[in-house]
Amino acid sequence: MLTLRAWPLCVWCQRQGICKASQVADHVRQHNGDHDRFYDPAGLIGICASCHTLKSGWERFPGHEAQLAEYWRYCDGLRATQGGGRA
Ligand SMILES: [Zn+2]
Repeated sequence: MLTLRAWPLCVWCQRQGICKASQVADHVRQHNGDHDRFYDPAGLIGICASCHTLKSGWERFPGHEAQLAEYWRYCDGLRATQGGGRA
């Protein structure tokens, strides 16, 4: 899985100073069945299983817009700096 090779550590754990291997290629923004978005590797980032569960909960239940927005902002920033020549 290319995404996990590009993002070997869970980016969301890393943000909190925790070093944990990434296990899931997460669609930073929900793809909603959109194939272009589903297969676009630039839309993916590596996180661990527990962060993925957490983030899926944010997407599924209302009231977590702030967390989700923060996640997007954080991941966008990471991809802008690390994603350089890799796209
Ligand atoms: Zn994590």
